[in-house]
Amino acid sequence: MNPVRTLILAAAGNDAVRRVVATAPVSRDVVRRFVAGETTADAIDAAGRLIGDGLRVTLDHLGEDTTDHDTAERTVRAYLELLDQLHAVGLAADAEVSVKLSAVGLHLGETLALDNASRVCAAAEQAGTTVTLDMEDHTTTDATLRVLAELRRHWPSVGAVLQAYLRRTLDDVRDLADTRVRLCKGAYAEPPSVAYTDPHEVDLNYVRCANALLAGSGYPMFATHDPRLIEIVGERARWYGKSVEDFEFQLLHGVRPGEQRHLAAEGHVVRVYVPYGDQWYGYLMRRLAERPANVAFFLRSLVTRS
Ligand SMILES: Cc1cc2nc3c(=O)[nH]c(=O)nc-3n(C[C@H](O)[C@H](O)[C@H](O)COP(=O)(O)OP(=O)(O)OC[C@H]3O[C@@H](n4cnc5c(N)ncnc54)[C@H](O)[C@@H]3O)c2cc1C
Repeated sequence: MNPVRTLILAAAGNDAVRRVVATAPVSRDVVRRFVAGETTADAIDAAGRLIGDGLRVTLDHLGEDTTDHDTAERTVRAYLELLDQLHAVGLAADAEVSVKLSAVGLHLGETLALDNASRVCAAAEQAGTTVTLDMEDHTTTDATLRVLAELRRHWPSVGAVLQAYLRRTLDDVRDLADTRVRLCKGAYAEPPSVAYTDPHEVDLNYVRCANALLAGSGYPMFATHDPRLIEIVGERARWYGKSVEDFEFQLLHGVRPGEQRHLAAEGHVVRVYVPYGDQWYGYLMRRLAERPANVAFFLRSLVTRS
């Protein structure tokens, strides 16, 4: 992994850094680029605007690594309220939700995470949409895939996420290629024993996994902003005889918005990942780590403000 990226992800875990970043007023401005807002109403507004522009969305109530039952419960309720509102305003057909199992209690027990995720899936079904389980660091991969398998017994459309930087992923892709799978590069600091650390190797594995997904009968969701990968996926999809309804591209809120609209104008299904809520710290740090230019943007804002 790029050393700047490793450094930022390591600094993100430091309490002093967390206090400074999380409380600096300017953080709010930077956060706004990547996060739709703090409330359900903010999330619904952002979803409405993007859907109005011909895009689809997946909404993520920010929060992760929950260590107490109350926080897990509040997260579940936030999703239930969101799904209820999406249905009420008629957006549910173009909006799904993304859930991190650690936010709904995975670290408190797999059964709790499964119960809570089941409540969100049931509410999503009621609203007329579905759920994708975000993938977190490699220590949670097996537990996440076990919970996914349980959820799919009742809700087969629940989406999986697989990360191309993990050495195991091509095997996981082969197991899941006939289902709904989001393929991303992976956003966590992982050791070389489990993950490719050379970006070129990650890209090669992304293409291998993309081919395996396109060869399957499932619904692949290609989550990347990388122009080369987007082009290769488009070409490979044509080679496999896929039509534009057979797969989708996914990009993050605030990242390459022009490309989001360009792909949609070309006829592709494009889904924007829209995070909202006040627990934005971990999410922001991963976005900064992905691109040193974002750190420069952040630091410039600090200087300009002070
Ligand atoms: C819809 C979606 C869902 C995701 N879900 C997960 C998940 O569940 N688990 C997980 O581990 N990861 C997830 N990710 C993050 C993913 O793993 C990568 O960390 C992230 O997408 C950056 O990789 P990239 O493919 O865009 O390629 P990169 O090589 O990182 O970037 C390619 C180009 O895209 C642009 N770009 C990329 N990131 C940024 C940024 N932050 N700010 C500005 N420009 C940028 C730049 O132009 C860059 O040159 C998700 C990503 C997306 C788009």
